[in-house]
Amino acid sequence: MHILVTNDDGIQAPGLLALAQSMRQLGEVTVFAPDRNWSASGHVKTLDRPMRVHEVQLADGTPGFASDGAPSDCVALPLLGLTKPVDVVVSGINPNANISHDVTYSGTVTAAMEAVISGVFGVAVSLNSPEGFKGALDYSTAASVAMRIVRKVLQDGLPKGILLNINVPYIQESELKGLLITRQGLRVYRDVLDERLDPRGRPYYWIGGEVPTGVPEDGTDFGALTAGYVSITPLQLDLTAYQVMDDLKTWKWE
Ligand code: MN
Repeated sequence: MHILVTNDDGIQAPGLLALAQSMRQLGEVTVFAPDRNWSASGHVKTLDRPMRVHEVQLADGTPGFASDGAPSDCVALPLLGLTKPVDVVVSGINPNANISHDVTYSGTVTAAMEAVISGVFGVAVSLNSPEGFKGALDYSTAASVAMRIVRKVLQDGLPKGILLNINVPYIQESELKGLLITRQGLRVYRDVLDERLDPRGRPYYWIGGEVPTGVPEDGTDFGALTAGYVSITPLQLDLTAYQVMDDLKTWKWE
């Protein structure tokens, strides 16, 4: 088995190292990740500039490749032949949950989407760490859960076009209630426009505000996390709203 490990937090992120170490139990691992943090960069295809790739070492000496491309580029380049053929792409471990509407913003999830576009299994792994956590996060639960889920994916396969979006509560593995198959819930974004002035009196802007929360409804990703379960949401890239197609067809278009 050849497992491609990537992330959106950059090649030196501790979550990437934890994921690479756990995936090594399942087969040969190639680490190929961005050379800087691309969190919330969404699904990117870099076409307007060349990309560079250089060999690096992770903190434990694991060899890897870093690129100045986006997370999805770091999947596209290997799958286009920069490395030998890949059986599964595993992205993470992101330090914060990627649930609900987050998935199209998330570099972690869109890297797994890029795998599916190329016909390769894709799994995204995120840790629901506490808001405002300071210090070194413990990735051990998420790394172990990721290993169990990817092992199952390699045994049984995934349907064509489907990726798994995994979110893991920030608790010890022995405290987990189990694994739940979930749907995307509702994110509650609390963004506010933060306008400031630069030293020359010209305005500039931040998207500010409180960190997002979610609606902890049963059956959803956020509901599972809130109740102490690992959330496994199967995602597809077909975003068509089938339920409104028939109605729209009856509209008189001017
Ligand atoms: Mn990230």
